[in-house]
Amino acid sequence: MLHTLRRIVQEVNSTRDLNRVLAIIVQRVKAAIHADVCSVYLADEGAFTLLATDGLNAELVGKVRFPPGSGLVGLVAQRTDPLNLDDAQEHPRFQLFTSLNEERYHSFVGIPITHHREVLGVLVAQSESRVRFSHDIVNFLVTIAAQLAGAIINAQATRQIDESEKTENLETKSSIPKKSSIRHDNRPLLGQPGAPGIAIGRAVSIASSVILESIPDRPIDDIDNEINVFHSALDSVRKDIKSLSYQLLADGLPTEDVAVFDAYLLMLDSNTLIDSTINRIKSGNWAAGALRETILEHIKLFGEMENPYLRERVKDIRDLGQCIFNQMQGINDLPLDKLSEKAIIVAEDISATLLADIEKTNISGIVLKRGSRTSHVAILARAMGIPTVVGVNELPVMQLDGSQLVADGYSGKLYISPTETIIKEYSRLICQEEELSEEIRELNGQPATTTDGINIPLYANTGLVADITPSKHSGAEGIGLYRTEYPFMIRQRFPGEEEQSKIYREALQAFVPRPVVLRTLDIGGDKSLSYFPIEEDNPFLGWRGIRVTLDHPEIFMIQLRAMLIASEGLDNLSVLFPMISTISEVEDAIALLERAYRELLTEGYRIQMPKVGVMVEVPSLVFQIKRIASIVDFISIGTNDLIQYLMAVDRNNASVAELYESLHPAVLNAIKMVVDGSHEAGIPVSVCGEMAGDPLAALLLLGMSIDSLSISVGSLPRVKWMIRNFSHQEAKALMKQALTMKDAHVIKQLLTKELEGKGLGGLIRAGR
Ligand code: PEP
Ligand code: MG
Repeated sequence: MLHTLRRIVQEVNSTRDLNRVLAIIVQRVKAAIHADVCSVYLADEGAFTLLATDGLNAELVGKVRFPPGSGLVGLVAQRTDPLNLDDAQEHPRFQLFTSLNEERYHSFVGIPITHHREVLGVLVAQSESRVRFSHDIVNFLVTIAAQLAGAIINAQATRQIDESEKTENLETKSSIPKKSSIRHDNRPLLGQPGAPGIAIGRAVSIASSVILESIPDRPIDDIDNEINVFHSALDSVRKDIKSLSYQLLADGLPTEDVAVFDAYLLMLDSNTLIDSTINRIKSGNWAAGALRETILEHIKLFGEMENPYLRERVKDIRDLGQCIFNQMQGINDLPLDKLSEKAIIVAEDISATLLADIEKTNISGIVLKRGSRTSHVAILARAMGIPTVVGVNELPVMQLDGSQLVADGYSGKLYISPTETIIKEYSRLICQEEELSEEIRELNGQPATTTDGINIPLYANTGLVADITPSKHSGAEGIGLYRTEYPFMIRQRFPGEEEQSKIYREALQAFVPRPVVLRTLDIGGDKSLSYFPIEEDNPFLGWRGIRVTLDHPEIFMIQLRAMLIASEGLDNLSVLFPMISTISEVEDAIALLERAYRELLTEGYRIQMPKVGVMVEVPSLVFQIKRIASIVDFISIGTNDLIQYLMAVDRNNASVAELYESLHPAVLNAIKMVVDGSHEAGIPVSVCGEMAGDPLAALLLLGMSIDSLSISVGSLPRVKWMIRNFSHQEAKALMKQALTMKDAHVIKQLLTKELEGKGLGGLIRAGR
C-alpha cells in the first residue's frame, strides 16, 4: 500500500492542472482499493460540488452540489470525520441523484480533505456490495486525503491564474461575463506579514534551487538542443569559477586557498563527466536528468573510496553538479530587465545576496513561499522598506510570472489577478499610507517621548546589508543591534582583522558619540557560511552563535580584536554576545574580550574597554536573569529566538507560524521577568527582536518600563509615533490588564482597540 500511496502522491504532485489532478486521484484510488466508484467533491461557493468521478455519470460533474450538512457528502464535511457505511441508501441523510446512476452502489466511505483546519472537499468511494470498506482501506484513504490537500490547493491557485488570464483575454474581445472559478475571485492566498506596506504590480518569478536528487527524468525530442544546453551551462560555470578565483587572488587570498577552484575546473573538463552526461542525453533523458545521473554516480563512487582525501571530494562534486544545474535553469540570476517599480518578486525563498542585488533596484514588493515574520529575509525586507508577504504555503511560484498581484504586507494576504474593485480599494489605501508616512516622517528629528515625559531611546537594527546609510537617516539614536554576519556571509573565507575592523569602524563612526552595539558572530540556525558548513539535524538547537565562536577562539579573537581596534578614538562601542544559555559562556566570552583588550593595549592601541551585554534568547536565561545581570553592563532581549524556544515554534516554518505569537501571555511574562530582574540588578534592558518594531507589542514593552528599543529602520517611525501618543501610565495599565488575559488573540484585540481609539490604526493595518 505504501508504494501505491507514494506513486499516487508523486503523480499528483507533478501535475498542475486541477482537472488532471482530480482525474488522477479518482482513477488511481479506485483501482488501488478495488472500489466501483471514486469521486471528489470540492468546496465551491458554499457547497461541495462533484468535480471528478470514476464510476458515476461524468456528465453531472460540476452540477451535483451538497451544502454543508446536506447529503452524506455534506455530513462528512460537517463532521470532519470519515463515514463508513455498508448501505448508504439506508442512512437518513442519503440523497439520491437518479441521473448519477448511484442506485446500484450500497457501501460508501467518505473522507474529508482538510487543509489547515479548513475542509476543502470530500473523497468518496462506493461499491455495489453491502459490505463496509475495511479498516485498512479507510486508513489508506485518510492517509492519501491528508497528502492530497496541498496539491489540490496548488492546482486551484494555478487555475485561478489561468482563468483570470483567459477572462482578461475574453474581456478585451467581447463582453462575455467572467467565468466562475473554483476559488472565489476575491479570495486571497494567506501568508504571513513580512514587511508592512502594500504592493500592487506584476509578478516576476525567480526559480529556486532544487536539490540534485529531486531532479526528475524527462524524455526529449531534440537531443542536439539538450547537448547544447549542457555545454553552455559548462561554459558559464567555467567562466564564473575563473573570474571568482581571479577576484579572490586579487583580494589577497593565498594561492593554496584558491587551488580548490583549479580542482573544480579540472573536474569540469573531465571526460567522464562530459561524456557520460552526453551519452545519457543521447539515450533520451533531458540535460538536467542526465547530469543528475552522472553526478550521483560520481558521488557514490567517491563516497565508497578508502582514501579519506578522495572521499572528501564528494562535496565538491555535488557543489559542482548543483552549479551546472542552476546555470541550466537560470537560477540565482535576478532578471534585472524585468524589474521595475511595478514588479513584485515571487520566489520559494531568496538568499541574502539576491536581496542585496534587489536593494540596488526598485521593486514594489516581495512574496515568498517560505519563511515567517522573523526569518532573516523578512527582517531585511523590513529594513529596506519593501512590502513583503512570506510563508504563502500554496504559492504557485513559477505559474505566477507576469500575473497581476496585490500583496498586503500587514495582513499577509496575496490577491492573484484581483478584480478591479480590489485594486481600486488597495490603491486608495496606498494613497492614505503615503499621507501617513509623510506625517510620520516629520517626527524624524523628534524624540520618542511619552505624553507624560518618559523618553525611550529608539535604536536601529542593522548589519544584514552593507550600507549603513538608511540607519543614519532613520532618526535612530544609535545602533542597538549590529548583526556582524554579513561581512562573513558575502566572502569565500573568514574575513581578517583588518577587513572586519574597517566595516565596524564605518558603523561606529556614523553614529559617534551615540552608542553602537556590535553583536559577535551569530552563525548556525538559518545563517550559514558557504565555506564553513554546519550540518545538523536540528540546526536551531545545535551549534549556533556563541557556541561556535567559543569553540573557535581563533575566529572569535580576530573578531573581538577587530571590534576594539575599530573603536579607537571613538569609544562608543558596546559588545553583545548571542545565543547564551549558561553563565559560564558569558564568563568565557568576557575573558576572551578582556584578553583581546589587554593584548591591544600592549600593542599600543588607545582603546577603552567596551560595555558588555548579553542577549536573552534562550529561556534558561530568563530564570537566571539576576545572576547574569550582575556580571554584564546591559541586557538585550532577542525575542525572535526567545519566542521560538519558549513556544517550541520554528521561527522560519510557515506551517506553524500561527503559533509564533509575540503577544502570548507566556512570552509577555518571560519578558517582564527579564526586565524586572535586570532593573533589580541596576542595569538597563532593551528589546532588539522584531517584536520591538510592532507598535502593538511595543506599547506593552513601554508598559513594562523597557529602557530602550532596537528596531528595523523601516518600523522605527511608526513605533515613535505610537510612543508619542501614549503616556507611560496608560501603557502600564494596559500591560497589567494584558497579563491577566487568556491568549494572544484577546490581548491583540485589546491593544488594537486602544490604537484605533487614538486614531493610530494606520500603524498596524493598511490605510490611514
Ligand atoms: C533575536 O533572536 O531576536 C535577534 C535579534 O537575533 P536574530 O534575529 O539575528 O537571531
Ligand atoms: Mg537571535
